[in-house]
Amino acid sequence: MIKYKLLCNDCELKFDSWFSSSSEYEKLKKKKLLICHNCNSEKVEKTLMAPQLISKSKNDEKFDTQKYKKIKKTIKNYQKFIKDNFKYVGDNFAYEARSIHYNSKKPTKGIYGKASLKDVKELKEEGIDTQLIPWVDEKEN
Ligand SMILES: [Zn+2]
Repeated sequence: MIKYKLLCNDCELKFDSWFSSSSEYEKLKKKKLLICHNCNSEKVEKTLMAPQLISKSKNDEKFDTQKYKKIKKTIKNYQKFIKDNFKYVGDNFAYEARSIHYNSKKPTKGIYGKASLKDVKELKEEGIDTQLIPWVDEKEN
């Protein structure tokens, strides 16, 4: 027995169906005996979610979650470093970056904050060194 995930192309219903073999599926399909039980459409097709692929994608998901957690941890460590060593200027980033750049007086700390991509591009054009970093929301776990 083999289980296929079937997809109705008319109503987009997904459902599982059992066949004695993959050739039985082909046979039924040719005879137009594969029918959507929701809308009676014959446009029913097997999706790529064959059983062997399901177990594989589950592993991938698990792997991705772990990978994601690891990346997140790295980002959070990075954030901590930045918070300890840089001054937060919030939405005023572009303004603050410019005043640091155009004032000869060097600040003791670097700054970080929010800037739009447009701001970053303009700052770069003015020769102000900026770095884009990924940021994880504090409230998120
Ligand atoms: Zn249907």
